[in-house]
Amino acid sequence: MTTLNETHDPALRSWVTSAHAEGCDFPIQNLPFAVFRRRGSTEPLRGGVAIGGQIVDLAELAQARTFSGLAAEALAAAAQGTLNALMALGPRHWSALRLALSRALRVGAHEQAVVQVCLVPQSQVEYQLPARIGDYTDFYTSIYHATNVGRLFRPDNPLMPNYKWVPIGYHGRASSVVISGQNFARPCGQTRAPDAAAPVLGPSKRLDIELELGVFIGPANALGEPVAMAEAEDHVFGLCLLNDWSARDIQAWEYQPLGPFLSKNFATTISPWIVTLEALAPYRTAFERPAGDPAPLPYLDSARNQAAGALDIRLSVGLQTPAMRARDAGAEATICQTSYRHAYWTLAQMVTHHSVNGCNLQPGDLLGTGTLSGPTMDQAGALLELTVGGKNPLELPGGEKRTFLEDGDAVVLRGWCEKPGHARIGFGECRGQVLPARAL
Ligand code: MN
Repeated sequence: MTTLNETHDPALRSWVTSAHAEGCDFPIQNLPFAVFRRRGSTEPLRGGVAIGGQIVDLAELAQARTFSGLAAEALAAAAQGTLNALMALGPRHWSALRLALSRALRVGAHEQAVVQVCLVPQSQVEYQLPARIGDYTDFYTSIYHATNVGRLFRPDNPLMPNYKWVPIGYHGRASSVVISGQNFARPCGQTRAPDAAAPVLGPSKRLDIELELGVFIGPANALGEPVAMAEAEDHVFGLCLLNDWSARDIQAWEYQPLGPFLSKNFATTISPWIVTLEALAPYRTAFERPAGDPAPLPYLDSARNQAAGALDIRLSVGLQTPAMRARDAGAEATICQTSYRHAYWTLAQMVTHHSVNGCNLQPGDLLGTGTLSGPTMDQAGALLELTVGGKNPLELPGGEKRTFLEDGDAVVLRGWCEKPGHARIGFGECRGQVLPARAL
């Protein structure tokens, strides 16, 4: 979805006045999806769309029968307790619902009275996973991350020879994907100190973050039927923030020869809000490789991918230690700022490569982009890189230092898009806090 339409018009204003507050992530040009209910209630989970500080309750709105055609079909799917059915419908339905919601939320809309009674304040809700995630695959699409990490292990030859040819990924675990705000215990596992003869079992001492975007898959491809680049983005519903918590000491001992296992699957946190590809259309940018790098193989290349395959999504990581929290509940230190536009492989290339062997993707499947480190070290999306393997601690406000995460530390990922002549849209927050390890 690269074309702009009336829903992207920066001059649009909503009758929900909080939508146009300075710095608000959810103006009328965004309209992201989540699954929610009132906090502490036994209400059914259902889909919602953010507008300012409010949520349009899509189950309530479906009851009102104010939309028709494809928009009504999409709304009925979005009223369910997961968004899998909406994701399965595809871009024509998603676009029709977005247009209908955009028109109903504009100043002067004749649907205002109907929609107004469907609003629930975001401050009163709890979120759940937006989809039943059948499978989760984590990619490795930042060449800067791959190089920074590779250099720690192989100073003379940091980047593996396959990197510029094949999008690297591994199959992660869906059951431990959790929603923002759900805290988790420091994982235990096998680690072996460099000078030790044998490994020990115990809490990880090198607990890290990975700043990523999550990609929710839309319509399925049948088993055995690859998705070509020209259709790849039609299989992408939208993007969320994703923190791939990683235990580096467990990872270092277990990763050869089959890759990450228990170092990664104890928790993966995602933001509740999924920003659709259509909402992201104004922030597309050219996908370019440095001069001298090989062109992607033809099945991973297209004129459209080169012209607009990348997305300029600004990303940041905030760290809040217990000492900061004691001083001020909102205090945090920004430890990384970067953009998704630096990725070496695009969304379309991830989908096409994942299916080139006939692997079937399904509605609600989750892809991770991999750690989205940018070209400079202050744009690195993991502590492993920011501290050069734990050798250079980060200096935090108040005199604290960190190499890896300590118990009580909270990490908040944020993402947003801004560009002259367009509305600023955002992803909200992806937050998690490290609790002490459980006794074995
Ligand atoms: Mn990862």
